Amino acid sequence: MSPTRAVAPVEVAPGVHFVEGPASNWTILAGDGTLTLVDAGYPADLDLVESSLRAVAPATGDGDARLTSVLVTHGHSDHIGTLSALRRRHGFEVFAAPAEVPNVTREQLHQVTVGDVLPHLYKPRFARWVLHAVRAGGLGDVAVADVAPLDLGASRTFSGHRVVPTAAVGHTPGHTVFALPDDDVLITGDALVTGHPTSRLDGVQMLHPIFHSDLAEAGRTYGRLVDRGARVVLPGHGPVLRR
Ligand SMILES: [Zn+2]
Repeated sequence: MSPTRAVAPVEVAPGVHFVEGPASNWTILAGDGTLTLVDAGYPADLDLVESSLRAVAPATGDGDARLTSVLVTHGHSDHIGTLSALRRRHGFEVFAAPAEVPNVTREQLHQVTVGDVLPHLYKPRFARWVLHAVRAGGLGDVAVADVAPLDLGASRTFSGHRVVPTAAVGHTPGHTVFALPDDDVLITGDALVTGHPTSRLDGVQMLHPIFHSDLAEAGRTYGRLVDRGARVVLPGHGPVLRR
């Protein structure tokens, strides 16, 4: 979980590049001479996000491919942490579900608190994760201004890929998954993961109960996603799942 560990994008479908970051993941869609980022890591992942964008750009046949859009599954600091700094370097639009926009702009905050975590700190995995989260800027101000609401259920093309944003709530009030029907890819964010620094399990799983805004709703959403077919599943935490 070192914040400086190098990461390499893996092309899981043509023009769909998955990055397993130090403690959270992001995905880069490439096509039409542009890049679209889905989620964006902790604040300390800025150089890693930038280097992964640079690594993917030539794969489009256009080394100057510009980052034009960012899609956000949800507003937790390990998924939007680099966006303010990235925006000072690139001009792009940020999109989130209408119910998630206030969590991304930080007009509201739905995120695990220090009080939630304290009872678990005796566990080495939690202690290591907390240390990483704090060092990676997880407690800093990660508010993102000017977030455009997504039209849920409607297909829209980003960097040459048809994307269908779908409500998958419970982890946060507006958590969203992104289906790429032509690529047979499902980006699940934190509604379904395949690992987490606090978890001893490998494979498909829910995050620990303390991380969800509404645990019962998150459980129902998770059940639906487990049954939802896609050849490639890209979770917010843990490795790619191919089925
Ligand atoms: Zn989360």
